[in-house]
Amino acid sequence: MTDTATPILPFLPFALPEIGDEEIAELVDTLRSGWITTGPKARRFETEFARFLGDETLHCIAVNSATAGLHLALEALGIGPGMEVITTTHTFTATAEVVRYLGADVKLVDIDPSTLNIDPGLIEAAITPRTRAIIPVHYAGLACDMDAIHAIAAKHGLQVVEDAAHALPTTCGGRMIGTLDSAATVFSFYANKTITTGEGGMLVTRDDKIAARAKVMRLHGINRDAFDRFTAKVPSWYYEIVAPGFKYNLTDIAAAMGLHQLAKAERFAQARRAIAQQYDAGLRALPVILPPQPLAGDVHPWHLYVLRLKPEARWSRDALIEALFAAGIGCSVHYIPLHQHPYWKERYGLQAGDFPHSQAAYEAMLSLPLYSRMSTQDAQRVIEAMQRLLG
Ligand SMILES: *Cc1c(COP(=O)(O)O)cnc(C)c1O
Repeated sequence: MTDTATPILPFLPFALPEIGDEEIAELVDTLRSGWITTGPKARRFETEFARFLGDETLHCIAVNSATAGLHLALEALGIGPGMEVITTTHTFTATAEVVRYLGADVKLVDIDPSTLNIDPGLIEAAITPRTRAIIPVHYAGLACDMDAIHAIAAKHGLQVVEDAAHALPTTCGGRMIGTLDSAATVFSFYANKTITTGEGGMLVTRDDKIAARAKVMRLHGINRDAFDRFTAKVPSWYYEIVAPGFKYNLTDIAAAMGLHQLAKAERFAQARRAIAQQYDAGLRALPVILPPQPLAGDVHPWHLYVLRLKPEARWSRDALIEALFAAGIGCSVHYIPLHQHPYWKERYGLQAGDFPHSQAAYEAMLSLPLYSRMSTQDAQRVIEAMQRLLG
C-alpha cells in the first residue's frame, strides 16, 4: 500500500435484517400459490412458533405488528375507560399507546438502573383502585424480574401482558418468555428485531378466552377466520360480525419469511451473543457502563447492546454518536423515555425528575451496531473507534 490516507470503509449501519435464500424461495412459493393473505403459512407459523417456545399447548396468534398484538391482548382483558395500566417510561411508545387506544390511562414507572427494566419495587407504589394490568418490557432482551411482577399482580388482582418485542429467545429462571403465567405475551417481527417478517407480531396466551376474543378481533370481529371460510369443504359464504374488530391479521407473504426466520432464530441469537461478548471484552476498560447481563443460566438474545457513558468520559453522548457517525458507524438511542415526549409529558404532567434513573440512563446511553450478519471485523472496527475516541 502506497496510499497513506485512511481507507474509506463502507458505512456500518446500526441494524440490518438477515434474509436468506430460504425466505426468498418461500416468498416466491407463496406468491405463486394464489394465497397471499392470511392462510396456510400464517397457520403454520403459529404452530411452529408454539413449538419454538417449547409448549405446543400455547395459543399463538399471528398479527401484523406487536402493537396490534398488545392492543388485542388488552382489549381481550376488557381494559377500558376509567382503568389504569402500569408500564415503564423507558420503552417505545407502542407499549403505552395501546392503553390509550382503549380509553384507559397509563401509569409510567421508573427503571432499575442495574437492569434498565421496570423496577418492581416502584410498581406497587403506582397501583391505585383503578389499576388493572402491568406491561413489563424485557428491555434489550433481558428478562424482567417476572417472579416479583407476578407476585405483585397476584396480590393486587392485576393482569400481566408482557411486551416481549425484544425477547426472542429469552429465558427467565430457565423458562422461555412466552410460556410464563402472564395473561399474554407479545413478540415483534419488525425489521430490526431478532427475527423479522418486515412487519409482524405474535400474541401468545394460555387463556382460551383471550385467544378466542383476540382471533375474532384480529379480523373485523368476524366469528370465523377467512381461511376457514374460503377453504371449507362445504360452500360457506355466511359469517357474523360480533364486534367492531380490527384489521390486524398477518399475511402469508409475511409468514413465509417468518417460518425461515424462526428456524434461524437460535443461530441469529448466537451470532448476536458473540458480538456482544466481543464488545464486552473490547470496551471493558473504557469509561462506560457495559450492558446488564442475564442471570446465570438464562438466555439473552441481545436485541440491543446499550452502553452508558460514565461521568468521567470526556464526551457527551450526542457528540460521541456524531463522532462515531463521522467514522462511518451508525448508532442509536433506546429510548427517549416516554416522559420526555410532548404527548405523554403533557397528558400526565410528567417531569424528568419523576424518573431519575430512566432520565440519567437516557442522557448517558447509546446503542452500538448489533445484528447477526455483523462480522468480527465489523465489531472490531466499532471497538477500535470507541477506544480511539474514549480511551
Ligand atoms: C418494536 C417494539 C414494539 C412495537 O413492535 P411493532 O411490531 O413495530 O408494532 C413494541 N414495544 C417495544 C419495546 C418495541 O421495541
